[in-house]
Amino acid sequence: MKIIKRNGTEVIFDVEKIEKAISKANLAGSGDPELTDRQVKEIASKIERYCMNIGRTLTVEEVQELVETYIMQHSAYETAKRYIRYRFTRNLVRTANTTDNQILTLIECNNEEVKQENSNKNPTVNSVQRDYMAGEVSKDISKRLILPPEVVEAHDNGIIHFHDMDYFAQHMHNCDLVNLEDMLNNGTVISGTMIEKPHSFSTACNIATQIIAQVASSQYGGQSISLTHLAPFVQISRDKITGQVLKEFEQLGIEPTQEKVSSIVEARLLDEIKRGVQTIQYQVVTLLTTNGQAPFVTVFMYLGEAKDERLKADLALIIEEVLRQRYQGVKNEKGVYVTPAFPKLIYVLEEDNIKEGTPYWYLTELAAKCTAKRMVPDYISEKIMLQNKVDSNGNGNCYTCMGCRSFLTPYVDENGKPKYYGRFNQGVVTINLVDVACTAKSEDKFWKILEERLELCHKALQCRHERLEGTLSDAAPILWQYGALARLEKGEPITKLLHGGYSTISLGYAGLWECVYQITGKKLTTAEGEAFGLKVMQKLNDACAKWKADENIHYSLYGTPLESTTYRFAKCLQKRFGIIEGVTDRAYITNSYHVHVTEKMDAFEKLAFESKFQALSPGGAISYVEVPNMQDNIPAVLSVMQFIYDNIMYAELNTKSDYCQECGYNGEIQIVNDEDGKLIWECPKCGNRDQNKMNVARRTCGYIGSQFWNQGRTQEIKERVLHL
Ligand SMILES: [Zn+2]
Repeated sequence: MKIIKRNGTEVIFDVEKIEKAISKANLAGSGDPELTDRQVKEIASKIERYCMNIGRTLTVEEVQELVETYIMQHSAYETAKRYIRYRFTRNLVRTANTTDNQILTLIECNNEEVKQENSNKNPTVNSVQRDYMAGEVSKDISKRLILPPEVVEAHDNGIIHFHDMDYFAQHMHNCDLVNLEDMLNNGTVISGTMIEKPHSFSTACNIATQIIAQVASSQYGGQSISLTHLAPFVQISRDKITGQVLKEFEQLGIEPTQEKVSSIVEARLLDEIKRGVQTIQYQVVTLLTTNGQAPFVTVFMYLGEAKDERLKADLALIIEEVLRQRYQGVKNEKGVYVTPAFPKLIYVLEEDNIKEGTPYWYLTELAAKCTAKRMVPDYISEKIMLQNKVDSNGNGNCYTCMGCRSFLTPYVDENGKPKYYGRFNQGVVTINLVDVACTAKSEDKFWKILEERLELCHKALQCRHERLEGTLSDAAPILWQYGALARLEKGEPITKLLHGGYSTISLGYAGLWECVYQITGKKLTTAEGEAFGLKVMQKLNDACAKWKADENIHYSLYGTPLESTTYRFAKCLQKRFGIIEGVTDRAYITNSYHVHVTEKMDAFEKLAFESKFQALSPGGAISYVEVPNMQDNIPAVLSVMQFIYDNIMYAELNTKSDYCQECGYNGEIQIVNDEDGKLIWECPKCGNRDQNKMNVARRTCGYIGSQFWNQGRTQEIKERVLHL
């Protein structure tokens, strides 16, 4: 059995070392020792058994927590005190300058925390290391100089999570819905160079890719674009190609008939669409932005957005090509097609594509095949979204989320028109609901503590907002001056865009499942659990509504993706409250309102149940169902999609299609315990366990990750039950 040291390396678990440390603390007092030698041995072997049974590899810190807990259980309080003091002194030596050490260990690729931070960043390459170094400095400055101490303390104890502190020192915001339409039609400026309206579809795709790269480097969260904004360039290309073909006919002396011309034109046009789409797919996955990763970009595919039937037909051509290319995948370094992480695709289910016999049913079938093989697209139900997103004119709206799941609030501009493209989110602070419940222990105390914690989040969110207040448009010209978000003057502050609902700011929440279980003793899926869960959600919404009314800033409730934070929260909870069965006994806590991953439930039941909570999570949420390899059962995928259309606003199917480079196996690579109890990935066909020789893709937040995960997240992935 092994344990993970602070610097990320692994050492063999040594029960004698633990025995020695306890014994040392036991004998160091002036009076009689509190523990007998037998008790010391007993504690050490209890810890050994615990570590063997937990099903993953523990860190040194976790083992030390256990030592403390077990010494206390033997009522040896003085011994525990001495042990804690010893740990504390060791810690002081180690953390005398935290930032220096963090930076040095990450350059040596040993920093376990950094490895776990983001499953799309590879911490061994130089450019990513530079981004992480900047991140460490930003965190240090934020904690020491910018944020109030109570916010920092709450963050450090896992009571709240102040997201993206690694960018907070700068005046940067979270995520965007890029106004590609404005940029393509009215021109833009990239790195000081004027880019005019493109004269063809493929050029438009090229420019779109450059815009994506620039936007990604100007903010830290995700961005979304709509294919609808590229669709008008199909006709521009068609006209251009028609002109060329007519000219060729004339040169060759052939009489041009309508039929002949159009068959040649459409063939060449499809070829151009193919090239354009390829540009976007390949550029997006190969770009490395200044944030040290591929841009987090979401591509929205919504036929209903097209203004007329011809545009809709052209949009359908693009969507078809995007799905086809994604189905094929991208080549790994061995030249084998695998599942790419980006761009994320969202396909809108609507009246004219949801049933067999509807005009765009063929696209829905293609989407189903693509989901079964490549995990995307994800699905938005136009029907449910129109019910959920009603603006001040009383109209329902359907639009994409920003990045993986952050939804804007409905908004009409000064002309009374709904507006979504060009808007953005300021940032997120997440409340750990499990901690509220564990602190309160009973329902009567729960609401009071919840209120205090919400006030803490509010204060932290105000810090986020104030950090952006007064930022000049020059900080990110592509966003604020050249159309991605606005067309402000040079030197103009962005302040007006932060108020009145143009942008949103998010109160995130995590662990509703464990919170409900701690307070009611019931699962969220029981009648009592559900009632309490909904009441908590309502309370969070009420808080946002009050802040919004007071400050004219659009606070909105958001189901946090919790990438590495789930692990951090779980560790903090165990530290603060010990192991509480069903609440703090795992290395992760449950995302947002989700049903626990181990809960047996079928896909339809799960989606119907979670939709009630999704409606109460207006700032963002996504539900998923975990399914096996479905490539041979497309009708089942389609029936889930039809169920989504009728029941839930936004959902995804987590399928599996991994690749073993040793034996060529294409299916699900398994998680197993190795000889030392560590969770590792293994090819079921050839037994290959080398992570560098396999391609594994799993959805761990709204995005697909493909760089492997920490032990906590790996345990969560392993424990997921199938819903079909
Ligand atoms: Zn294999």
